Amino acid sequence: MSHDLEGKIALVTGASAGIGLAVAQRLVDEGAFVYLTGRSADALDAAVAGLGRNARAVTGDVADLGDLDRLVDVIRAEHGRLDIVVANAGTVDVVDGVDVTPEHFDLLFDTNARGTYFTVQKTVPLMSDGGAIVLLSSGMNVKGFPGYGVYAATKAAIRSFGRTWAAELIGRGIRVNVLSPGVIDTPILAKQFTTDDELRAGTDGFTSMIPVGRLGRPEEIANGVYYLVSDQSSYTTGFDLVVDGGVVEL
Ligand code: NAD
Repeated sequence: MSHDLEGKIALVTGASAGIGLAVAQRLVDEGAFVYLTGRSADALDAAVAGLGRNARAVTGDVADLGDLDRLVDVIRAEHGRLDIVVANAGTVDVVDGVDVTPEHFDLLFDTNARGTYFTVQKTVPLMSDGGAIVLLSSGMNVKGFPGYGVYAATKAAIRSFGRTWAAELIGRGIRVNVLSPGVIDTPILAKQFTTDDELRAGTDGFTSMIPVGRLGRPEEIANGVYYLVSDQSSYTTGFDLVVDGGVVEL
């Protein structure tokens, strides 16, 4: 590792598992101090213990603005600034349009769209000029895929937020980019199926649609996030980096 994030203070939301945890690991490996958030204190403590150093857990729900305020207060008191924000927390629920309930709609929009939006709004005052923000969207943000109507719309909202935040923060030298994963092997996969057989069939179905012929690994998403938060991408802002084994473009 290059250690070129040495001394940087970073926040990764939803970092107890999956992509968020892999991103936190990569940022720590590159020298950053990383705040990890999530709703389960036990899961977060285990994640921080696994990272071993330069990591701190703060429990909270991204859909709860009070929790976001508390998180910002902790970071301000302990470090006084943030250099990197990775708004990763998100959830999925697969429901055909005819069966969508207001509860399904609100859960996905509250967590994914509202949670991501206010994570940025609340942390921006703490961000150092020249900092970097990455918002986790999804390749679904440009797809029409049965059962994912509300989820895809939350992710399209996130892609749009990235453009506007990038324009609003450009004067401070803060770059804002979006990263859109394809199908990545994390616990979110199992959430989309009720039985192991369904999960196996669903995974095979996804794999058959992926040009490179396999699911992605969380570390491959962490590579993309590292690129977007490091000086390697110093001339890139408002962009959507799609990391999906070719699904969207091929
Ligand atoms: P995951 O379920 O493994 O992890 C999601 C994390 O977010 C968990 O730590 C979870 O506890 C946390 N989280 C969920 N709701 C939260 C809330 N309200 N407040 C705080 N934390 C919350 O999923 P993942 O695959 O690691 O997904 C990470 C991000 O990547 C999500 O935004 C997801 O939509 C996006 N994504 C994932 C895939 C994929 O195939 N895995 C594809 C496209 C986009």
